[in-house]
Amino acid sequence: MNRRSFLKWANMAGLAVALPSPSVFGAAAEDAKAGQTPSPKKRVESPETILLKDYRPKSIYKIPVTEIAKAKFPIIDMHSHPYAKTAKEIDEWVRNMDEVGIEKTMILTMTTGAEFDEILRKYSKYPERFEVWCGFDFRGYDKPGFGPAAIKELERCKQAGARGVGEIHDKGKGLRSGKSNAPGMHPDDARVDALFDKCGELGMPISLHVADPIWMYQKMDKTNDGLMNAYEWRLDNQPNIVGLSGMVDILERTAEKHRGTTFVACHFANLDYDLARLGEVLERNPNLYADISARYAETAPIPRFAAQFYAKHADRLVYGTDMGVDKAMYRVTFRILESLDEHFYETGQFGYHWSLNGFGLSDEILKQVYHDNAAKLLASRRA
Ligand SMILES: [Zn+2]
Repeated sequence: MNRRSFLKWANMAGLAVALPSPSVFGAAAEDAKAGQTPSPKKRVESPETILLKDYRPKSIYKIPVTEIAKAKFPIIDMHSHPYAKTAKEIDEWVRNMDEVGIEKTMILTMTTGAEFDEILRKYSKYPERFEVWCGFDFRGYDKPGFGPAAIKELERCKQAGARGVGEIHDKGKGLRSGKSNAPGMHPDDARVDALFDKCGELGMPISLHVADPIWMYQKMDKTNDGLMNAYEWRLDNQPNIVGLSGMVDILERTAEKHRGTTFVACHFANLDYDLARLGEVLERNPNLYADISARYAETAPIPRFAAQFYAKHADRLVYGTDMGVDKAMYRVTFRILESLDEHFYETGQFGYHWSLNGFGLSDEILKQVYHDNAAKLLASRRA
């Protein structure tokens, strides 16, 4: 889950969220701090003092604007989370999925035990529309004898209905599955060998998130191309973490070690800034896929290069969102993948200041990325 999806989830869950002031509410938040009634109209911004985080440009070009209400082909969403908490919210989500063309959604719960069972129960009304994936239980990972209990819980979740595992994170400090942490233990660690092999045996793919976007590791200064998001999620100030490149090496060693297990690297393995390297990693590792979730804004500034990458690796990329349940959210992803629109902004959705461009992917590529690769991956489990 990222900050955006957390905010959406919190909103749906009816929580009052007190996070560092989201920029869209900047003026209101400042007023609130001063103990005054928020009045968005009150402040007249001087161009001298507009902050990058408040920058909301509007495109002036008179060029085609493509509105895509429904995806061109049915979609399997390989990266989502249990955003909908109640039966009513789940019903609404299914209606949204119908309207925009999402056939099925993977609910990556990151949980085990009773917490997993509860989410599974809630979503079981729609077995054809949702798959509920479990997490790992890393308890005791730092003590001798770790392994059998984690495998036993994995088997129990599988028995209950889990068809895959995720989202498992390692942002450089070690593995994490929701609330279950294993600081210092990375995915290529021998201690998880049996667990990862068991996933292969059970036919459970692992959705694995390594590292974070490159801007988070770079200097937080005027040269940082993704500063406004990078600063919120900064990693440049974290000592002793494995860097992005090192985490990609770990991902590759992990895929190599467990050839019988299928891995889905989340968010282009955070190589959205270096797609050529991702291409090489995919070519070397036949059991590795990459999901395209939550990296739309990061790839839409380079539409020609991105489209070439999609064409070259169309058989290994799977659609994902990771950004809540709104119809508008799905539609932005369709516009980026399907249209050839240029220079449009989605600062509300993504938070970056860049203008975006569509890739204009061919029908053949869209079918693969939207549906067929995921369908193949999921069907292979039953063999
Ligand atoms: Zn996620």
